[in-house]
Amino acid sequence: MDSLYLRISVTDRCNYACRYCIPKSQIRYIPHEEILTYEEIEKIVSLFLKIIPISSIRLTGGEPLLRKGIENLVKKLKALDIKDVSITTNGYFLKEKAKVLKEAGLDRINVSLDTLNEEKYKRLTTYGDLSKVLEGLFEAKRYFSKIKLNTVLIKGFTEEEIDSLLRFAAENNFEIRFIELMDIGIFNKKDHFLPVEFVKSYIEKKYGKLISLERNSFGPAKRYFLKSLNLKLGFIPTSHNFCNTCNRLRLSADGKIRLCLLNDLSYNLKPFLRGAFDENKLLEFLKGIIKIKESMLLKLKKDYCKENMVRIGG
Ligand code: SAM
Repeated sequence: MDSLYLRISVTDRCNYACRYCIPKSQIRYIPHEEILTYEEIEKIVSLFLKIIPISSIRLTGGEPLLRKGIENLVKKLKALDIKDVSITTNGYFLKEKAKVLKEAGLDRINVSLDTLNEEKYKRLTTYGDLSKVLEGLFEAKRYFSKIKLNTVLIKGFTEEEIDSLLRFAAENNFEIRFIELMDIGIFNKKDHFLPVEFVKSYIEKKYGKLISLERNSFGPAKRYFLKSLNLKLGFIPTSHNFCNTCNRLRLSADGKIRLCLLNDLSYNLKPFLRGAFDENKLLEFLKGIIKIKESMLLKLKKDYCKENMVRIGG
């Protein structure tokens, strides 16, 4: 592994309760004092940098814009010379936050958007407000040239949304990525799984050939260009094994490193950060984690995540 892609969940709280995201079992929120401080996150990142270059950091959650002063963390990460710092958000607070995030040095934004139908959006997200998200996206467009939309594919829900989402993305110069459903929330895979192949062939039949683009170095998405709409789009399969090219680590809001989204194995950094802090011990522990990540080829497990998505950050 010659570089690391770190996904950091900054909070497990979310102002939405998306039906595909909220786990079937009851959520037990992490107590506030257990959540890593920005200084602790900065320390972990700076120690990783002593071991391996970090190509990219994505801040996620829960809802990352819900965390107070998130722009201060962005500033700290950019001060460590991380070239690519991005955020995945539901977009609800984007109107208020876009400018300060840009000023803090944020490079890119991904916004989760599964429908442009207000009633369906509300039904899916429970507390969502589509018009507020759209306002946030338009505001973000003033400051960011790279905005991506993330659309989770849900059978019986997404089929009718594809055309409007494609056109919306094209009109606004957003890239759109279709993500296969994982078995976490109320929509079970058995009844609601919609393969990316279905959407791909639907798009090709209606809009013409998808021209393959180079894979982005930090993700599993297969990217394409659609000439008829002048649109870049991507597909993220969750059912295929791409472990041998995966350089991702996930840091949970309460300080656990996960090697794989689909595997519950995790390493708790908290004992090294709190109490008698010993930088060298933490550095050695992180070196060990990188070695394990490099040496093991994690196989996708059929039972997927048992942990909460809001805690891991997707
Ligand atoms: N609150 C932020 C948001 O809404 O983008 C960030 C956290 S959310 C957990 C991160 C990503 O996980 C989102 O793009 C969401 O669509 C994706 N996600 C959540 N549950 C999923 C599921 N069951 N299958 C596939 N993707 C899922």
